[in-house]
Amino acid sequence: MSEGRILLADDNKLVVKITSAILQDADYDVSVAWDGLEAINKAYAEEPDLVVLDVEMPKINGYQVCRLLKDDEITRDIPIVMLTGRDQQSDKFWGLKTGADAYVTKGFKPDQLLGVIKEQMEAGMTRRGSEERARLPRQVLEESGVFSRVIDLLDSKLFESTILNELGSLASASQDYRETVSTVLEIMARVVGNAVGVVLMFEEEDMVVQVNRPTRTESLAEIKGKVFELAGAYGWEVGGNPDRIKVSLYGEENLKEQMEGQPRPYSHAFIPLTAQKKVIGLMAFFQPQSPAFARDAQIILGLVQNQVTIVIDNARLYEAARQLAITDGLTKIYNHRFFQELFEKEYKRSDRYNTVFSLIMLDIDHFKKVNDTYGHLCGDEILKGLATLIKSCLRSMDIVARYGGEEFAVLLPETNGPEAYQTAERIRRSVEETTFMGTEAGLKVTVSQGVATYPSMDIHDRQEMIAKADGALYEAKETGRNKAIFRE
Ligand code: GH3
Ligand code: MG
Ligand code: MG
Repeated sequence: MSEGRILLADDNKLVVKITSAILQDADYDVSVAWDGLEAINKAYAEEPDLVVLDVEMPKINGYQVCRLLKDDEITRDIPIVMLTGRDQQSDKFWGLKTGADAYVTKGFKPDQLLGVIKEQMEAGMTRRGSEERARLPRQVLEESGVFSRVIDLLDSKLFESTILNELGSLASASQDYRETVSTVLEIMARVVGNAVGVVLMFEEEDMVVQVNRPTRTESLAEIKGKVFELAGAYGWEVGGNPDRIKVSLYGEENLKEQMEGQPRPYSHAFIPLTAQKKVIGLMAFFQPQSPAFARDAQIILGLVQNQVTIVIDNARLYEAARQLAITDGLTKIYNHRFFQELFEKEYKRSDRYNTVFSLIMLDIDHFKKVNDTYGHLCGDEILKGLATLIKSCLRSMDIVARYGGEEFAVLLPETNGPEAYQTAERIRRSVEETTFMGTEAGLKVTVSQGVATYPSMDIHDRQEMIAKADGALYEAKETGRNKAIFRE
């Protein structure tokens, strides 16, 4: 009874003769290949239980053969024993890199070789399980032939390294988190064949959707539902309210209210995003029904899974750290330091492009009294409420920051003095009309504001602009509070 089938690849007649004899004596069936190409062919055609590979062979060397066989899922599980030169370190290195299972230095004793082979035969058996090697891949192989199979493998290697490169360059580009994710989705959507790509981060309850192909708006709901379903399989709960999820939509121009024909259900492919062994989100791609898409995209996603996760997780961490550094802990608006940064930018921009912008300094009236009467915690509630209220009075391009204790600063790009004054008045009235939380009965406060605008005759640098707004604020306090003042 045969102990198993071994493919022996070596171009040296003497080595082949001796090695075959040793193997046959130990009841193995031996098939011989005289060069690398033949070795590959026979590995596919004969499905050996183990391959013994010489490193130096004509046409394709042992490392290359090893690499190809280990990269292909059809042949991956076949143990490979390399016959190396006398203990060459570089041989060991390349052997490891190409995924060989064991090495035997040439000039081996018969028992040495047989020991290694027995061990690897058993390991290979466990890897494959007791079942026969999968049927499906063989079909694939017969269709395409060994040679094109090898070309395919080389192709996918090249492809993989190209994509990984492109993704890798993103990792260092420290963009905004959502932009980064959208770019990853765009790259990947191109690769898998124009698709709608989605990344959902569980903890952030944050969803980025990149639409790269004409898509019905109604289909987005279907896609969203499917993503939630997939996420649910990883223990993610939407808490009964999907509307809470923050959705950023990119590629909106591809959305169509109406399209010809019946909507088709979508096929999808997806990967979980895993950081520190924990699934933190998932990435999915959708195309109108196409089993081929689902299969191919899944394979491609598998190839880039690690890289994609790293890029996205890095962008997320970077953003989180940045947010922490620029945000005021209590009010969650920008802090003083970041305000100064933005202010400087705006000031320079105004100089360079000759544009107008304005600054409002705002201070709560008699805030000390509020604290003294109701306690510091009530005061904090008012500060939080006021931050939200100010934001609601502004345009999206305006910026509000906590300037100091109970002082706020508002930057208004492309806004002249009178317009800024209008905004300040709007804020003042809003505050006056608002009852803030903090006590059961609610609390009332008023605010005073000073407005400055640039360019202006008497402002020559940033400090002077702040001083001017501060001066106007002081004047508002002196002349009765609960008012805004702008001086040309
Ligand atoms: P004015 O109308 O002149 O501005 O009177 P004011 O009492 O608001 O001004 P003052 O500068 O004398 O007092 C500011 C108060 O703001 C003192 C301080 O207790 C309070 N404050 C500053 N930062 C915080 C904070 O983070 N939380 C709370 N609750 N209070 C704060
Ligand atoms: Mg103050
Ligand atoms: Mg005050």
